[in-house]
Amino acid sequence: MLSKNILSDFPALSRTIKGNRIVYLDSAASTLKPKPVIDKLSKFYLENYANVHRAVHTLASESTQMLEFSRKNFANFLNAGEHEIIFTSGTTMSINLIVESLVRSKMLNENDIVLTTLVEHHANFVPWVRLSKLHGFRVEFVEPSLRFGTLAIDDFLKKDINPKVVAVTGHSNVTGQLIDIEKIRSIFPNSILIVDGAQLIPHQRIDVKSLDIDFLCFSVHKMLGPSGIGVLYGKSQYLEALEPFLYGGEMIDKVSVEDVTFNVLPYKFEAGTPNIGGIVGANYALEYLNNIGYDEAKKHVLDLTKYAIERFRNLENVEVYGPLDESHCGILSFNINGIHPHDVAHLLDEKFGVAVRSGHHCAQPLMNVLKSQSRLSQFPNSTCRASFYIYNTYEDIDILIEGIKRIKEWFD
Ligand code: PLP
Repeated sequence: MLSKNILSDFPALSRTIKGNRIVYLDSAASTLKPKPVIDKLSKFYLENYANVHRAVHTLASESTQMLEFSRKNFANFLNAGEHEIIFTSGTTMSINLIVESLVRSKMLNENDIVLTTLVEHHANFVPWVRLSKLHGFRVEFVEPSLRFGTLAIDDFLKKDINPKVVAVTGHSNVTGQLIDIEKIRSIFPNSILIVDGAQLIPHQRIDVKSLDIDFLCFSVHKMLGPSGIGVLYGKSQYLEALEPFLYGGEMIDKVSVEDVTFNVLPYKFEAGTPNIGGIVGANYALEYLNNIGYDEAKKHVLDLTKYAIERFRNLENVEVYGPLDESHCGILSFNINGIHPHDVAHLLDEKFGVAVRSGHHCAQPLMNVLKSQSRLSQFPNSTCRASFYIYNTYEDIDILIEGIKRIKEWFD
């Protein structure tokens, strides 16, 4: 358990629905927001808000300072330069920005190879697949060969290719597997390494310099902050060379009929009025997590995961996906044989107050892998997914397990 009692910071957790206390197990989709973060953000909006970077008046300069302070803290957090931190609307936007900018800058050309995996969220899959069709680069896929969608480092080693780009998730949003980025970098020392950190960064601090990551993307709504705001780290040598993705105000230096020159980093990639409150709120969320202690928060989630894995082991006719070992963090996807995951999720909510996600989790290629490895009488091309965060408890997992047992009995 965490050393601080933080549950009262999340008023939704003391709500009851149809007589049951809410058990929120859907943090991989989006986390709840702590009251101190919302209070500070509300104070910012009420007292300091104005547009940034343009006007000289006091509110504008306060707002600008607070926005830039957020950038500074995220730069420190990742061991990056402030000019290497770009605020976007989220991971999806960041990855689209990278792919499109690489193509426009001719850094990704016909016949170049992009290596990604079959466990990716569509955000790190569809842009590569679609733009390969338009621009002629080739996409290769690492297939997970271990238990139920788990990637092995050997799966990467087997790929005897020299990819221009390696684009991989740091943490699967379906299997909960933490992926060893350091090893992947060592296998592909010369590739542009892009890490989808949407699930990883809510649990783990990453030093982009020591891991030699070229691009890292994550979404603040999955780490206690507002939605609609994402952080994109890019190594400055690439950001300098890349053509921007969006054009307009703020990202320019000189504009004339003949030509346009660009602003310095990071503003070259931040066209238009940014999500000012989102950026300021992102920093409050980061401060909240830092206050708890990142390592302590991760240990708590790992302890809960271990406990949940043990409890799931005793359930008959339930298939649990992912590695089920120490690389398994915060996410348990499962199916009850013969019952559709949407029915399970609906009953868990309705009868036990338990919020889990059901569906393909924006990972259809991985659903196909799970289907090929499943021993269920019929794999439903989707799973139920329970995900844990700092405000979850062992009791939450007990309630989930009890719910699953009861639902099984009802369908027997
Ligand atoms: N990548 C992973 C691994 C995710 O889990 C998600 C969201 O669930 C995304 C990317 C997309 O994030 P967003 O919807 O915030 O852009």
